[in-house]
Amino acid sequence: MMNAGKVYLVGAGPGAPDLLTLRAAELLKRADIVFHDALVHPDTIALAVNAERVAVGKRCGRHSTAQRFINKRLVDAVRKHEVVVRLKGGDPMLFGRAQEEIAALQTAGIEYEVVPGVTAALAASAELGVSLTQRGRARSVTFVTPRVAEGEKANDWARTVAASDTAVIYMGAGQAEMIATALLAQGMHPQTPVRVVENASLPERQHYSLNLRDLPSVTRLVIAGPALIMLGEVYGECAQEAARAASEARCA
Ligand code: SAH
Repeated sequence: MMNAGKVYLVGAGPGAPDLLTLRAAELLKRADIVFHDALVHPDTIALAVNAERVAVGKRCGRHSTAQRFINKRLVDAVRKHEVVVRLKGGDPMLFGRAQEEIAALQTAGIEYEVVPGVTAALAASAELGVSLTQRGRARSVTFVTPRVAEGEKANDWARTVAASDTAVIYMGAGQAEMIATALLAQGMHPQTPVRVVENASLPERQHYSLNLRDLPSVTRLVIAGPALIMLGEVYGECAQEAARAASEARCA
């Protein structure tokens, strides 16, 4: 059978509907069917005015609708529809299981295209007003997750965090205690500044400022929405002071 259409793996951005790219908005307008993560804002999904809308996945990045089933639905949909949109939270290429979907589409000989989105770490950085790569303090940034899928080998995430200047931990807020223990065991300083950002870009956003030793208390903060744990010297008072001093010195 001929494949009629094309599948677009589209980044929906971190939450706020107006952080969507124009390309994504245009595709949603043209979409015949949209398979979306549950974290995608209803106003964003509403842009797909002519599309059948199908929720897949409870929360982006977590298993719920089995990945294999989603892959199959995409392949089936493109045989009937011209514009099939797979709408994912943030950017599709970061902790979004895009590779499995791309592989399934390639195997089936289906045309696809990826449309990038604003990942949560960038939205969180924007609202904190703290650069991930503050000059003189941070030249490396790591995006990691301690989460491993079933049957997957544990990775070296803690060592990677300890080795980079700034680190952003995705899907980790529920495991704050384990994360703190693992990072301290890597030799990270207990006073390493930490920010926890929940619901970045949304009106219900929450920011918490703490240090690595106190990170386990995050479990008591009643985090209901998606959250990031961000660590590094750039989040410390010293870094902010230094940046202020440098800018004043230059202005004087
Ligand atoms: N592809 C997505 C990430 C999916 S993994 C992206 O690029 O952003 C899901 C994790 O992303 C959540 O557990 C949380 O750690 C983070 N996340 C997603 N949206 C967020 C938001 N608005 N605020 C804070 N963290 C968010």
